Amino acid sequence: MNPWYAKALILAGSVAMIIIRAPHGHRSRKLKVAKSRKGPLEVILLTLAWLGFFVPLVWVSSPAFAAAEIPLHPLLLAGGAVFYVLGLWLFHRSHVDLGGNWSITLELREGHHLVTQGVYRRVRHPMYLSLLLYSIGQALAVPNWIAGPSYLVVMALLIVFRLAPEERMMREEFGKPYEEYAARTKRLLPFVW
Ligand code: SAH
Repeated sequence: MNPWYAKALILAGSVAMIIIRAPHGHRSRKLKVAKSRKGPLEVILLTLAWLGFFVPLVWVSSPAFAAAEIPLHPLLLAGGAVFYVLGLWLFHRSHVDLGGNWSITLELREGHHLVTQGVYRRVRHPMYLSLLLYSIGQALAVPNWIAGPSYLVVMALLIVFRLAPEERMMREEFGKPYEEYAARTKRLLPFVW
């Protein structure tokens, strides 16, 4: 199958991600940061996340990863597209529910409040779940051993290294309400973990 089908999917998904995030990024830049926990680990994770996002775009637009190319299977492309759409929908929903409380890194805004409704009702990290779904979609659809799993690898690292410090920060800030919220929700996968 022509790899350009996968390339079109990656381009459309990346543009959708940027469009979904843009208004929230714009708003968050105007809201004052009250507390920041952006240490060296966060800088490394954010840099990796950007790289992981751009590697598939380099694959779309150049022959840089030609040596790692594999044939495109229509079923993998279709499965990837399903994960992509689910991921993008959840990405949009979690941004809407988190509103002005969103930050790209470990930060609390002035007037930060704890969100426990909408997609935050069942899991504490729906946005990370959305990024995981999206990156699984990419790993399935992109017929290339480097560009395919690049975002999945960095998202897995981000989740592994950020979840605990983020929850610690939220616990310290919100105390008992966060304890109660954590007691009635799962972290990432509804009903599982
Ligand atoms: N981990 C969440 C949010 C990602 S954005 C998710 O995956 O959906 C990261 C920032 O969101 C954190 O720095 C923290 O300030 C904020 N945050 C995380 N969970 C929150 C919640 N339940 N309510 C309000 N803000 C939250």
